[in-house]
Amino acid sequence: MTPPDLTAISIPAALLPADGRFGSGPSKVRPEHVRALADTGTTYLGTSHRQQPVRAVVGRVREGLGALFSLPEGYEVLLGNGGATAFWDAAIFGLIDAQSQHLAFGEFSAKFAAGVKAAPHLKDPQVHESPVGTRPHAVADPAVDFYAFTHNETSTGVSMEIRRPSGAEGPAKGLVAVDATSAAGGLRVAPDEFDVYYFAPQKCFGSDGGLWLACCSPAAIERIERIAASGRWVPAFLDLKVALDNSRLDQTTNTPALATLYLLAAQIDWMLEQGGLEWAAGRCDRSAEILYTWAEQSGFARPFVATPRDRSHVVGTIDFTEGIDAAAIAKVLRRNGVVDTEPYRKLGRNQLRIAMFPTIDPEDVAALCACITHVVGALAS
Ligand SMILES: *Cc1c(COP(=O)(O)O)cnc(C)c1O
Repeated sequence: MTPPDLTAISIPAALLPADGRFGSGPSKVRPEHVRALADTGTTYLGTSHRQQPVRAVVGRVREGLGALFSLPEGYEVLLGNGGATAFWDAAIFGLIDAQSQHLAFGEFSAKFAAGVKAAPHLKDPQVHESPVGTRPHAVADPAVDFYAFTHNETSTGVSMEIRRPSGAEGPAKGLVAVDATSAAGGLRVAPDEFDVYYFAPQKCFGSDGGLWLACCSPAAIERIERIAASGRWVPAFLDLKVALDNSRLDQTTNTPALATLYLLAAQIDWMLEQGGLEWAAGRCDRSAEILYTWAEQSGFARPFVATPRDRSHVVGTIDFTEGIDAAAIAKVLRRNGVVDTEPYRKLGRNQLRIAMFPTIDPEDVAALCACITHVVGALAS
């Protein structure tokens, strides 16, 4: 049998989504926000990040996140350069006292655990792993001073509810730190269940990469200040005390990308105008319902994550049955302007991965499902 000619398959325009971006990061940026950025003309881009116009945008971001996550009195929003990956290293130096515990259930959560293991000034971390497509559970331990959770494992499409491990208030005062890079702004979270909720803005926040943000509880702030005062050596770029001091002035340690900040502020304002986190999470719920129901009823695809409550409502992973080539589907979609549905590369499955961030219209998710059904039919004929 000759392989099907992928270039010959065209998707009827009536089936196509209005916006063809379904990548899990960088992800869809709202064109309205790009236009608003362009409209700032000569008043914003190319001006000093130490002066009022940029500081006002940082202030909008910090206040807006406080409102979006209903942060209680005493919580503070910190920010700095380098994305979520840089924040892992900053936490290794400035937040973990001696020993951490990690839930490792995919590429991102495992990477942070590996970084901690390599750090010479810390004890070996406790790592609870589970096979891809599932999630492990935390085990409270009085020796643990830092629990590392991942709200949404972007590599596998598994999400976990954020809760403090019961009994975690031991002598080490275990902080709960959540990598929420692909979850923040799309999944519900209660601020009293975390001490640090950190993320980069190129996923649910429809901005660009290169920045990290961290919602910190008073206990986390206290930890940052205590470690900074302890004399531990910390590379200046990763110094969370310096980040804290700058954040309080609506600034960053070094020069940030101003476009990223602007798009982030615009996205937060948009989410708040629409109804806040509950609205955004509801929109992701709707997209997830559409995607998973379609997969289950398709006859040729099914949700990769077996347990429905572990299935992410912000990043969906869909396995295809043998004989249906997911990579070929992704190629045809791409040729037709529907991009970034390829699975996480290291997972190596016959799969598509589809972002359902708040920016993405649930109707576009429905349109994507129809497109996939069309392509599967065309590949078979
Ligand atoms: C994307 C992602 C990261 C990495 O973010 P960078 O900004 O590229 O460093 C880390 N953790 C999770 C869960 C992610 O989805």
